[in-house]
Amino acid sequence: MNIALRFEKEKLFSEAEIFLDKNVSELSFILNSGLEISSISCGENSADLQVESVYEPLFCAEVKKYSVKCSFDFGTVRICYSGGISGWHNIITGDIIELNRYGVWFPCELSCGAKSAVTVSGCGEYFLVKGEPDGDLWRYSADEWDMNLILYKRNILQTVSGKYISIYFADNSLDDAAEFSKNIFEDVLDYYTKELFRSEYCGGHTEMACLYPALKSGGAYKRYGLIVCITPGTDEKEAVGVNAHELAHEWCRGADCGSWEDWLNETTAEWSMLLYCLDRNKTEIFDAIITEHRSKYPEFPPVRTEDGSRPEGVHTRGTVLFYKLYKAFGAETIKSIIRIFVGLDVKTTDKLLDEMNARGLSEAASALEKMLI
Ligand SMILES: [Zn+2]
Repeated sequence: MNIALRFEKEKLFSEAEIFLDKNVSELSFILNSGLEISSISCGENSADLQVESVYEPLFCAEVKKYSVKCSFDFGTVRICYSGGISGWHNIITGDIIELNRYGVWFPCELSCGAKSAVTVSGCGEYFLVKGEPDGDLWRYSADEWDMNLILYKRNILQTVSGKYISIYFADNSLDDAAEFSKNIFEDVLDYYTKELFRSEYCGGHTEMACLYPALKSGGAYKRYGLIVCITPGTDEKEAVGVNAHELAHEWCRGADCGSWEDWLNETTAEWSMLLYCLDRNKTEIFDAIITEHRSKYPEFPPVRTEDGSRPEGVHTRGTVLFYKLYKAFGAETIKSIIRIFVGLDVKTTDKLLDEMNARGLSEAASALEKMLI
């Protein structure tokens, strides 16, 4: 898929050319409901486009599911569409633009495989995070869930760079915070590689993109070599939170994010951060984070759902659940559980419990199992 993109005011204008892995007579895909398709063709011919359904996929903006049909088999599809964007962490302003998979800003979930690459044109005055400059164009290629386009107007972009991280931001008030955050990132990396995970970091150079002031709230997320957040942290607690939790996902990942098993990814990442705080004597931050989670804990349902769906608040429920284990069995047990999770071939709760039993942590495994429901 080649996507030529340009922006005008708060709208995107896109021409997507999709090269399918094989010839088909029908193709389906989803696209943000707020984006209007102005033309579509299969090969050299116009095609019949139908809306099959309208729904909200987990974590995403409302989408329309389309099907394209043609009277003969086709291997390429061209779609022109435009409009405003919606979805978590998606925004288009004159100075900062962020588009990610939650906004379904390009045709996703294609019924036939296709490779993705984006060419951003008409954006000469912007810098594209993790993009490759090519004359007046920016090129960007990634898998579907890594199609995060973050653009800054060059004249407002600030950068703080260290050996392992570059922090991008657009507001001078964040100068000191970015410098401080860079140092926290490098200290967290030191703790994770030498002590907690005892393994080399394979995530490459990390780019941290801060969206303030285009976005003023909304949390953070991690992709390969990329942390997307609001600010680099305006105090030490926030800086530790964004760096240590997000960086931990380099190891703490792999459980199904769309099911209750996501509690494993989030709890182990949050507790990696909490263990960092304990190791570096940042006990005030540890206490403050635990207190926040404990106060929110009763609002959320148990982690393990009967139908396997992802309940609200797995991050908080799981963190408090581990806190109970920490109080009963100590920090070394939590470290062991996290390391076991990271090393699992299949990242499920049942596999984690089996492995804990096999490694002499059966008392903690049994306590954990009871607390999940
Ligand atoms: Zn997380």
